[in-house]
Amino acid sequence: ITNDYEKRKLAEQRATRRLKGESGEKGKSEGKKRELKLTVSRALSDQIEARTRSLASLKRAKLKENRELTKEEIQENLKPVKRDVNIPEAITVRELANRMAEQSSNVIKFLFGMGVTVTINQTLAADTAEYLVKEFGHNPIRETKAEEIIQKIKESRSENLKNRPPIVTVMGHVDHGKTSVLDVLRSANVVSGEFGGITQHIGAYQIEHESNKITFIDTPGHAAFTEMRARGSKLTDVVVLVVAADDGVKPQTIESIKHAKAAKVPIVVAINKCDLPDADPQKIKNQLLEYELIAEDLSGDTLMVEISAKTKKNLDKLVESIVLQAEILDLKTDYESKATGIVLESKIDTGRGAVATVIVTSGTIKKGDFFVSGLKWGKVRALINDKGQNIDEAPPSSPVEILGINGAAKSGDDFIVFDTEKEAKTLSANRAEENKTGGNPLAFATQDSAFTDKSATELNIIIKSDVHGSSEAIKNAISQITHDEVKPKIILSDIGMVTETDVTLAKASNAVLIAFNVKPSKEAKKLAENEKIKISSYNIIYEVLDYIKSRMSGLLAPDIQETISGTAQILEIFKVSGTGKVAGSKVTEGEIASGANARVIRDGAIIYTGKISTIFREKDQAKQVSNGQECGITLKDFIDFQKNDIIEAYSTTSTERTV
Ligand code: GDP
Repeated sequence: ITNDYEKRKLAEQRATRRLKGESGEKGKSEGKKRELKLTVSRALSDQIEARTRSLASLKRAKLKENRELTKEEIQENLKPVKRDVNIPEAITVRELANRMAEQSSNVIKFLFGMGVTVTINQTLAADTAEYLVKEFGHNPIRETKAEEIIQKIKESRSENLKNRPPIVTVMGHVDHGKTSVLDVLRSANVVSGEFGGITQHIGAYQIEHESNKITFIDTPGHAAFTEMRARGSKLTDVVVLVVAADDGVKPQTIESIKHAKAAKVPIVVAINKCDLPDADPQKIKNQLLEYELIAEDLSGDTLMVEISAKTKKNLDKLVESIVLQAEILDLKTDYESKATGIVLESKIDTGRGAVATVIVTSGTIKKGDFFVSGLKWGKVRALINDKGQNIDEAPPSSPVEILGINGAAKSGDDFIVFDTEKEAKTLSANRAEENKTGGNPLAFATQDSAFTDKSATELNIIIKSDVHGSSEAIKNAISQITHDEVKPKIILSDIGMVTETDVTLAKASNAVLIAFNVKPSKEAKKLAENEKIKISSYNIIYEVLDYIKSRMSGLLAPDIQETISGTAQILEIFKVSGTGKVAGSKVTEGEIASGANARVIRDGAIIYTGKISTIFREKDQAKQVSNGQECGITLKDFIDFQKNDIIEAYSTTSTERTV
């Protein structure tokens, strides 16, 4: 500024000098020129004055500052700011440094001082991050894990259980009347006068029959059902299998049965088109025997109803059978708790923004609730039921359109209500983060009923083969493989090429998919590639068996043998510059090597398990120390050792087990 000021001053002097020198000149324009020059000079001096003023005010401000700040105040100002730092389950060094507003290099240096070498993109566990945040003088706040929050919600739901309506999916072969059945059930309900005939398609609807409610998923077909399952969402309590009485059991009928069975969902059979002259319901029942669906009149326990969607014959009986099946399932949930649900479909609506159709699986969704759905979150702005009415609350099993989500959810996404906006925001941010780092945040969509998770000790198998003979032979051979801890389980064995449905089923059931002497269809191959499902092709049975055995072996936990190589007792704790805390120890048994697995034992309890980081003999690093020697030891990610702790170094050998 001063420099500038000088320059201006010189310029002004020059201008004044020129003005003086030129004052003797004659001519018409002289007066004008003079005027102009005077203006210039005035403008310049104005500028200079302004500068001088601003300089002075700067000086004054500085003086004032120094005068008013006491020594204590200056010291206070120099103190680092203590920040609240949120710590998720895993965080990169860069992000942690950002959240603390510290330089990443300082964090790396600090960790290096503890004997841990990290890069800026390395992910730190929450414990380590929490420790660092404290060391940097900030206040760590552990974020609750998504699963933990959900677990808490679930636990709070174990009281006040009341029955909830069943959620029903209609399946069956094309043209057997799925859509007709869904339509007629919906309109029967509407015609009863309750809702004035207005229906709105939101992908699901609810009917009421003698004070029993039933929710129907209004998208017939298998794709929706299996896709939802493949995504981990479990949204069906009862499958209604529609079979045309004049046509019989067809490929998609069989497929539906397999899907329902794989998902352990009970089936109610609707034998449709019984109004037709060539309808033969008895034939259908006989055909279904082969698929272990045994009608009550054949002394089985599968509910079968002979209906006509056209004449509406026995539709009430069908509804009663569904109610009965639901009673057997004893579907209960807590109506009062914070709601959870599953997204059925979702769209961006011009004017209304993102809209998600959700089926409530437990609790009650209320207007104003904060929620997370998949990676999105929001506040329930409006709830619209299947009749297009605005409502304030959506109880369990009801389908409802929700406005207020901050983006399009995906069908199959979960929907969880939280107490506060902050919780919802944090969880959705965590999920987005987990999603980035390759986790699968959507794996925990839940529904209490209807589906139980496959046990880890069963290997699900799907076999497609060329002829009945080979499929039987493979089945028999597989059933001979026995093991105490893992079992093979054939969930589908069929003849014909591998179809898209097989691939979807393999994904949903986490099954191995074997093609014996058959090829996958083009679509199936493509889907398998996209979904990363391996289709294993074989033409020799014992090779199939070898493969299955190897896959079963993969499910066995390996045998772990442990050998303790040495123990040391901590005698004293040192602080070494550049290294941090070092445990001054004496080896009391065997030997301890750097890099070895180690644990710290205090008063008989293991307080740390990890690795030996470095060993010092005198001032130098050593590879190992033996019985009787004294040394300094640092451990990986752990410095909380105390005098008299025991450090135990050990090695493990793991032997893979085979079936
Ligand atoms: P979807 O493909 O399984 O959804 O079958 P639709 O509901 O579209 O029905 C296929 C055809 O069967 C349509 O032409 C319906 O009118 C007819 N249909 C459905 N139910 C009945 C019934 O109970 N009786 C008769 N006669 N026809 C029916």
